[in-house]
Amino acid sequence: TETTETFEFQVEARRLLQMMVHSIYSNKDVFLRELVSNASDALDKLRLQALRDDSLDADISDLHIDIEADKETRTLTVRDNGIGMSRDEVVELIGTIANSGTAQFLEKLSDAQQAKDAGESGDSPAAEELIGQFGIGFYSGFMVADEVTLVTRRAGEKQGTRWKSAGEGSYTIETLQDAPQGTAVTLHLKPVDTEDRLYDYTSPWKIREIVKRYSDFITWPIRMAAEPVDVPAGQEADGEEGETGQSGEDEATEAAAREPETLNSRKALWARPRSEVSEEEYHELYKHLSHDWNDPLETIRLAAEGTFEYQALLFIPSQAPHDLFQQGAKRGVHLYVKRVFIMDDCEALLPPYLRFVKGVVDAQDLSLNVSREILQQDRQIQLMHRRLAKKVLSTVKEMRTAAPERYATFWREFGSVLKEGLLSDFENRETLLEVASFASTHDKDEPTTLAQYVERMKEGQEHIYYVTGDSRSAVENSPHMEAFRAQGIEVLLLTDPVDEVWVEAVPDFGGKQLRSVSKGEVDLGTEEEKQERETEREERQREFADLLSWMTERLGEDLKEVRLSARLTDSPACIVSDTHDVTPALERMYRAMGQ
Ligand code: ADP
Ligand code: MG
Repeated sequence: TETTETFEFQVEARRLLQMMVHSIYSNKDVFLRELVSNASDALDKLRLQALRDDSLDADISDLHIDIEADKETRTLTVRDNGIGMSRDEVVELIGTIANSGTAQFLEKLSDAQQAKDAGESGDSPAAEELIGQFGIGFYSGFMVADEVTLVTRRAGEKQGTRWKSAGEGSYTIETLQDAPQGTAVTLHLKPVDTEDRLYDYTSPWKIREIVKRYSDFITWPIRMAAEPVDVPAGQEADGEEGETGQSGEDEATEAAAREPETLNSRKALWARPRSEVSEEEYHELYKHLSHDWNDPLETIRLAAEGTFEYQALLFIPSQAPHDLFQQGAKRGVHLYVKRVFIMDDCEALLPPYLRFVKGVVDAQDLSLNVSREILQQDRQIQLMHRRLAKKVLSTVKEMRTAAPERYATFWREFGSVLKEGLLSDFENRETLLEVASFASTHDKDEPTTLAQYVERMKEGQEHIYYVTGDSRSAVENSPHMEAFRAQGIEVLLLTDPVDEVWVEAVPDFGGKQLRSVSKGEVDLGTEEEKQERETEREERQREFADLLSWMTERLGEDLKEVRLSARLTDSPACIVSDTHDVTPALERMYRAMGQ
């Protein structure tokens, strides 16, 4: 006897569902991509688990995805015989939204909606872009369905589970004694409404079109089951399999006479000659791998032959993920071994400061059982890691000259992460300094590269000057800037937290030292001018000697020395640190660490 339990959706899940039900996303076709993508993941997981665990009671001889449409009942089912889910997994994975970024997503989304409702940005794509940035997978089914049923059984387990919801406040869970292994998601489709882009998703040509467009490279067969239809004798269609018919009636007739049709070509893009792969195909693969709904900024291909053969297909996203600086966030590329999916979020293949890069690495000579620990230590993997990092950086370098706008986007989104590399990747430090750009007093909108700064340096200027701080306005108004402004000396405005640290670690750029405006003397001008200023200062120092020594005495507890300044023009006084003193921010950090 089976009991049906009712559960309430988590608050976030409910809000997200609401948004799907009253869909704001105009391209509703993507729900099928999401379901197929989940099915494909489930097949990957099952194959790998079966390869690693002989005792697993599961058949992996015919792994595939079936799509079944029923015009009568207006249902669409996506079925896989993959890993499946246990009852607890269903509750955890489907009933809640585990992703910590979701709350943030919803917040941003309602901001965007409000802006849109207020008519602030016309046909603002903000909401759609946000959906793309976060990816909401399974729930996208509710864009086209008024009820979703999921039947699943985890490989190796006896009992199955049925989950069912109308996408409102609650869902039900039922234990099943006789579910097939894997997962079937059945959508009860809303009525066709062209206005609202709710097409007839039971139409075979529509299904074929969507699968072709979004999921062609999926390595598992995606099959469309034939609908049973009574065909008058002698009228069986005799066309080639895979032919595209346009009318529903033709479809049904054809379908009745044949085996299920495989819709996707199943080709691994990274293994195909470059000339044969279109940009669109690359982009779809990127979207599948990254769960991003936007096109990537850059596609990078790389192949190595010889003793350690591999192919890599990497992507630079066009937007930083919301959790780029979050600890424990998923990152890294997908690792395949001879076309077999091994793991996603493989961090060992790229340095941490390139953690935003997505893609696939397919290695020929690794064991299917390779673990994350082994990967970290493997010498060949380390070589690959170096090569991939160099390739990504050289791509950015090319982008800077060949596509300045794209580079500007890149740097805006990922610059602050890349700068972490200045601290950890000594080998690529020069390249990183070359591709980096910074806000500067030279131009208030356009960032500058270090090379451009050096080109503009004044005669007699020996160093590259920078100021660090929490915000643009704070550093621009710093009293330390006055002397530089007065003398027309360009200063880099560094406001990322990481700036404070890398400027300490990087001694110079092309022989020019990096110097904080808040440290030591301003040494501008020719030798003669400097000499002149020095004499003048000494004179005035003598003039004010009594006052200064009195002040030094009174403030001695807190200060090393009170002296006349050559750096101020408007402010009466400022605090300066010695060239070798730690910066205030580092000082705070050291203190916090108990040093
Ligand atoms: P994502 O795929 O980004 O994790 P989804 O909302 O698409 O997010 O799916 C949530 C989770 O539900 C998946 O991570 C997976 O664990 C589980 N899931 C969804 N569909 C399937 C399926 N067909 N087979 C097994 N597990 C699935
Ligand atoms: Mg998914």
